[in-house]
Amino acid sequence: MAKPRVLVLGGNFAGLAAAQEIRRLAQDQVEIAVMDKKPYLLFVPNIGLEVLADRDPAASLLMLTPPILHEDDIAFIPGEVKEIDVDRQTVSFVPSERPGAPSQETSYDYLVVALGARLAYDQIEGFAEHGHSVSDTYLGNRLRHYLYHEYRGGPIAIGSARFHQGTMTQDLIPTAEAACEGPPVETALSLGSWLQKRKLGGPQQITLFTPAEVIAEDAGKPVVDALLKLAGEMGYQYWNHTIDVVRLTAEGIEFADGRTLEAELKIIFPDWVPHPFMQGLPISDDRGFVLTDRTMRHPKYRNVLAAGDAAALTVPKLGWLAHLGADVVARQIAADVGRLDPEEATLPFRPSVNCIGDMGEHQAFYINSDAWWGGEKAVLRVGRMPYLMKKQYKDLFFRTHGKVPNWGMPLAEFLIEHLS
Ligand SMILES: Cc1cc2nc3c(=O)[nH]c(=O)nc-3n(C[C@H](O)[C@H](O)[C@H](O)COP(=O)(O)OP(=O)(O)OC[C@H]3O[C@@H](n4cnc5c(N)ncnc54)[C@H](O)[C@@H]3O)c2cc1C
Repeated sequence: MAKPRVLVLGGNFAGLAAAQEIRRLAQDQVEIAVMDKKPYLLFVPNIGLEVLADRDPAASLLMLTPPILHEDDIAFIPGEVKEIDVDRQTVSFVPSERPGAPSQETSYDYLVVALGARLAYDQIEGFAEHGHSVSDTYLGNRLRHYLYHEYRGGPIAIGSARFHQGTMTQDLIPTAEAACEGPPVETALSLGSWLQKRKLGGPQQITLFTPAEVIAEDAGKPVVDALLKLAGEMGYQYWNHTIDVVRLTAEGIEFADGRTLEAELKIIFPDWVPHPFMQGLPISDDRGFVLTDRTMRHPKYRNVLAAGDAAALTVPKLGWLAHLGADVVARQIAADVGRLDPEEATLPFRPSVNCIGDMGEHQAFYINSDAWWGGEKAVLRVGRMPYLMKKQYKDLFFRTHGKVPNWGMPLAEFLIEHLS
């Protein structure tokens, strides 16, 4: 009999982890293919570090995925997904290596949606002319050029546009007003130190803003209070409840609450928006994120699973949560094909925030918290150890081809929480 065919859409953090973990747990009981429009993983969290060090992030943060998948007998399909038909169990795509390819169709027994989200800079008026960010290598290099060649020492604004979360998971997770606020906090703290080091000023010329009542609220109140106290003592300005970014101009940012913030440099994190072809599908929530229960399966289409930023349950949009979601997905499929005890497989998705942010001068902050979801954990540490871990983690990830050993994260947590 033919083996069930698992089609994983997206090959970055969630897709790569899901495909590898499915192979590890389901062994040879499934055929696996990963489809992505690009044949590499972009290690997004370290782009800011490279930018401030005046290094090209494209030179060190891309990992070629097809040979890595090949090691586990996982096929790679270079294709841009255009349509998903969950009733016919097919995906339409256009092969992405050369322009001009005709549309193709492929079928699946299991579909894992790990396509991330669109970072909707194009919805912010004035971003193209006046905005900066660090979410991809192009924007990273553009900011690097600005900082090292054009920056005139003026005020800097860093923060998020409003995130529009779907309403169909409200019984499972809280609602966030920003998609991912670790990056703006990290960018502000590390840029303040960069300004000081280059004698261009310091934290006092940086304003950190948020559309929400408090920034990074998903880190939990005790952590946010401590972080804001620390940033205030360092001299950072802070604007909350800006509601949304309306427009960027040469002079600054206009917010939906009516205020205007003067800024020469505007570093923005936009709304995380589902891909247009995901909107209105029977597997999507009212925004276009894939609706799942805590087993990361769609409640009705049980052969459709999701992980990472594409999943409605993944809030905030964090690589760490992509990894946790991918593990749940793999256990589900392994149990279906009889390779895992169903009880072990039903360990549900238990979200938490686990992140490390650069602060410059070989210092970093580390957050490990599940307080936003009603848990007890709310750890914040600042020091050299988290910084070493942030640098080491990327090297370990590349060296192990994405298979950071299981002890990697608990050991990192132990070292940071007990030795910092
Ligand atoms: C500046 C910044 C810093 C961050 N720092 C951290 C951090 O320190 N820690 C942390 O945990 N998280 C961090 N995050 C969040 C983290 O990067 C994301 O949560 C993570 O990348 C999500 O992984 P994913 O695989 O779900 O989606 P993505 O990484 O977005 O990958 C989606 C994949 O799908 C592919 N794809 C998309 N559309 C199509 C299509 N139509 N057809 C085929 N392929 C397609 C893309 O090419 C891509 O490879 C940060 C994010 C940003 C922007």
